Amino acid sequence: MPRITRENLAEVVDGIDWDFLQKFVEVGGKQKAELDRLSKRPPSSSSHASLEEQINSRCQTALIGFKMQEMAGGGLTARGPGAGRFPPVQGGMLDCLNQLKKIVIDDYNASQRSQRTVNYKKIPVLLKRVRSLLRIFYDCQIGQKAHPDLLLCDWPQVFDVGLELHKIALYLSLDRPRLLAVMDGAGAEFETFVLEDPFDVGQYRLIAQALQEAVAKDEEADDDDRMDAGEVESKAGGDLAAHLMGWFYGDLHTALILNEPDGNEKEKKWARKAMKRLVFWSTNHVMRDVVGDSLTDAMKPIYWYKEPLIRFCQAGGMAALIGDWVNSSCQVLCEETLKDLPDECWENQTKKSLAAITKELQYKVAHESSEIVVTPIFVNAMYNMYRHYGISPFSSAGRQEGRDDPVLFYYLQHRIKKEGLGMNTKSDWRKLLQNYVDIPKSAERRYHWENCTISIKWDCLEFYGCNNPACPEKKALMDLRKRRVRGVRVKEVEDRLDKWGSRCPACSACGETAYCSPTCQKEHWPTHKPICVKKRKDRKK
Ligand SMILES: [Zn+2]
Ligand SMILES: [Zn+2]
Ligand SMILES: [Zn+2]
Repeated sequence: MPRITRENLAEVVDGIDWDFLQKFVEVGGKQKAELDRLSKRPPSSSSHASLEEQINSRCQTALIGFKMQEMAGGGLTARGPGAGRFPPVQGGMLDCLNQLKKIVIDDYNASQRSQRTVNYKKIPVLLKRVRSLLRIFYDCQIGQKAHPDLLLCDWPQVFDVGLELHKIALYLSLDRPRLLAVMDGAGAEFETFVLEDPFDVGQYRLIAQALQEAVAKDEEADDDDRMDAGEVESKAGGDLAAHLMGWFYGDLHTALILNEPDGNEKEKKWARKAMKRLVFWSTNHVMRDVVGDSLTDAMKPIYWYKEPLIRFCQAGGMAALIGDWVNSSCQVLCEETLKDLPDECWENQTKKSLAAITKELQYKVAHESSEIVVTPIFVNAMYNMYRHYGISPFSSAGRQEGRDDPVLFYYLQHRIKKEGLGMNTKSDWRKLLQNYVDIPKSAERRYHWENCTISIKWDCLEFYGCNNPACPEKKALMDLRKRRVRGVRVKEVEDRLDKWGSRCPACSACGETAYCSPTCQKEHWPTHKPICVKKRKDRKK
């Protein structure tokens, strides 16, 4: 591959702003290092810091994420249509946030000094107002509609709403007596708001999700269908209402979970509900996409401490930890947590939680190179999963439908079953996973083929089957493809396609290529020879 330089890339990418890109990469690198530093567990000496200092430091991650978004022109800078009035309009967003802060911070502080009572009952009312204004704003923005309450959306930039909510929630989560006073004082309505109300992801996200599912299920879906669904999804992705509520919910759920071990009966009940919610939100893919990094940011204390981590994993949350290792603002933290994962974390897993775990592991392989599977995190995960639950999570993951690539698990269960492998030690696993890394290309292609839907087999037949570019059977199949009518399926034709894709014998010398006939192999030999020789040499090393 030619080296990419400023000059030749400019030919490919029109109108690229190089100075911006360079600055973005430079700042991004620094910010990434800063995020990694911030995701580390705070030293126990920092518990002597004042509440305000602790809150400020916990807000840094959100602020850095926002700065990067701001540079890239992301949606978090959106100005509310009612912004700019002073004093803020009554019942508007700024007014609600100010009132919430006054109750949670000032009124509570005052009540500790004197015997004054605080009207905590207003809290859920104000929070519902905040949530509904965000909803109205985004529904109008995406659906290009108007609503009288838009004038109450008076924030200068919408990120501030999320940040203020984060701060309010941190006052509660880092100060247990304050949290108890508020939970007790605000009563059932607040409890319902935090622990029971269905999470509103917005109508556009729901439409996008339904469309994605329909396309994934449709055996005959083609690239156009996938593009259409992708377009709707990216439009719906502009809805940040749930993302902005993510810190608030995540901070409170995390605090309630952390407080469980020495909590009273009520706290234990809250903790159970919070755990159920947090596990669902953080492991469900739709929810992860919607809430995004705000939830991960708020959940960090669970990854910091072994005791809540074990409970979280046993309740089905391990997939969140792996997912945050694949992609989040605290990847380094998650990697360290996973390297040092207590064995108890693997107990009590269900079919559903194991499916979520294997799915995240597949994502990790797809994001990195396949060598990642021989690292200790993968070896440990496979070893523990098999030790506790046998072959079944591997078999299920090997035939997962939809967008994911099940090849890794398909391969593992196939080898274990076919060869009756024992797989009793970590070193057995390391060996099998190393075999996976070394799979010859022809076998890898065949595994992929076996997991493709019929429409993908037709669309992508160039990449499978016989490696001879002049293969007559490939040409014949490509002709048949042209004549194919969507919805009309001819069994003989499909069998012919299938046979060609899955039954070409590999080059016996190297295993890298495969051919449907000796003639095809002979025709391709002049091209294949140098690769074949090199592969054989590499293998001898
Ligand atoms: Zn694939
Ligand atoms: Zn051929
Ligand atoms: Zn060869």
